[in-house]
Amino acid sequence: MSVSFEDLCLSRELLDAVKDMGFEEPSPIQILAVPPLLAGRDALGQAQTGTGKTAAFGLPVLEKVIAGQGVQALVLCPTRELAIQVAEELNRLAARKRGVVILPIYGGQFIERQIRALDKGAQVVVGTPGRVMDHLRRGTLRPDGLTCLVLDEADEMLDMGFREDIEAILEQCPADCQRVLFSATMPAPILELAKRFLREPEMLSIARKMLTVPAIEQTYYEVRPYQKMDALCRVLDSQGFRKALVFCSTKRGVDEVCIHLQQRGYQADGLHGDLAQPQRDRVMQRFRAEGVDILVATDVAARGIDVDDVDAVINYDMPHDVEKYVHRIGRTGRAGRPGSAFTFVTLREHYKLRDIIRCTRAHIKQGRLPTLRDVDNIRTTRLLDEVRRTVEEGSLDRWLLLVEEFLAERFQEGGVTGRDMSAALLKLLMQRDFGKQDSADAPDVFAVEARRPAAAQEGGLSRGGQGAAGRRRERRNDAPMRALRLSVGHAHKVSPRELVGAIAGECGISSRHIGAIDIRKQFSVVEVAEELAEDVLAVFSRGVSICGVRVSAQPDEGGAEGHFPRKAGKFGPRRPRSGFYAKKTRGSAAGRREEEPSAGRDRPRS
Ligand code: AMP
Repeated sequence: MSVSFEDLCLSRELLDAVKDMGFEEPSPIQILAVPPLLAGRDALGQAQTGTGKTAAFGLPVLEKVIAGQGVQALVLCPTRELAIQVAEELNRLAARKRGVVILPIYGGQFIERQIRALDKGAQVVVGTPGRVMDHLRRGTLRPDGLTCLVLDEADEMLDMGFREDIEAILEQCPADCQRVLFSATMPAPILELAKRFLREPEMLSIARKMLTVPAIEQTYYEVRPYQKMDALCRVLDSQGFRKALVFCSTKRGVDEVCIHLQQRGYQADGLHGDLAQPQRDRVMQRFRAEGVDILVATDVAARGIDVDDVDAVINYDMPHDVEKYVHRIGRTGRAGRPGSAFTFVTLREHYKLRDIIRCTRAHIKQGRLPTLRDVDNIRTTRLLDEVRRTVEEGSLDRWLLLVEEFLAERFQEGGVTGRDMSAALLKLLMQRDFGKQDSADAPDVFAVEARRPAAAQEGGLSRGGQGAAGRRRERRNDAPMRALRLSVGHAHKVSPRELVGAIAGECGISSRHIGAIDIRKQFSVVEVAEELAEDVLAVFSRGVSICGVRVSAQPDEGGAEGHFPRKAGKFGPRRPRSGFYAKKTRGSAAGRREEEPSAGRDRPRS
């Protein structure tokens, strides 16, 4: 039985906001978390980014805050970027609640500005632990009015060395304050923290059951969020489906994808809960009757779809849970027909793919997105097939006459041959149907992506040598890292915290993919996972500021070995996921940080 947002007993303002955001139904973690949190229970939730966990704690928090009163809810996040992201999501959820102010506070921003904002009044503060402690010490943030404290990505905060700050904050919040802890993983330190500070917490975790998937071919593609539209077109162009169903997670997503597809000349239509029944009927009629090749839909809207000859399901957005994946792909391969499913997976969503594979034991193979040249070749082959069929069908007398006349004339003039003429016709047809054909020679946005999977399959390590893009290293039993040089250093008062926060937040990668850090006077050298280095460089080339300085990034020509000796040394190697950062910030880097001013900085205490 499906649960709606209305079933969660939320106020009209929040229901309207959720509708404005294009959410059609609550995600599993929201269904699980909202009722106990509304009831005021403490909770320990296991949920990762991408599950809808922000709204899971945000909706109950916003339901209870009273406009015009002091700070009532405090949300702690590991990085400034996450704090901003969470504050933005809460702002959207609170859009219909008049007078509720949500304030992000984090290190690297002028503290005076934050003090003024706190003075003006806020009901919800979303902050990083170091900066929140700073305000608590100064008395500019008072904990006595808190009715709810949320720890978001608690494992990441502990990993980053915020344990003491977190404990100090938990100790200062009032005895009857509701405490909610969300963490992607549940290692012993998290369980200890929960045991010490949560009172009979509600355990929030999605039970995983085994599900059977239909026997259809399943493929996934690794994409960056901004590449999805191009990826969708490549898949559509290369496969030649007659009918495809594209799934998005929100109504807004459906509208956007649909408009983009239509603008690019596809016969596409959208289906979501906001359409009136007659509109829905019309869309379905067109899809069934072959007037529309591509139907873009949300999960809720797709429930009513009863079409047998869908060739392919494309998960443009990954579903929030495994059951949805199974439902979605069950829309193809019906009535004994062949079908295939394609799923776009962003870096942050890899865990969802792993969950799906674990719970369904399905074989989902990694695909390589066709290049522009592949797409061109496929289109040309299809056209030539049509030419061949037309020749076989015969009845070409009238056309042969025209060709012979044309060739006879042109042959005398300038030597045009039948081959020339066929090539020209092919070119004209391709250009008429698909636009200028120079695209195959254009730089391919997926070129880097396309190479990666192959490298990964060869044992998960790229075999790069001394490329122009910088020295690549490879370590035994260790993920390969690449050293990048950022144009910010001690002179700019930067600390490892800001570097990790900016890289993780701006590039959308986990801090676990960031390795050793060496801060020099004018620059810093930071190791990032080899497979993500190009993306990090691309993001920095578009403009990233750290500590108010616009920072450029480039491969470190000196090579990582020079900065991070592998054996001992100040900044020993850090394997992604090793928690090295926490150790490092408490270790030798601490001495140097002592020289840094504490005001306005957000850093773990050593
Ligand atoms: P989070 O896990 O909180 O980072 O959320 C991941 C993304 O899912 C965000 O873009 C949210 O806006 C979106 N989201 C959250 N809840 C829902 C929902 N019920 N339906 C669709 N999208 C959602």
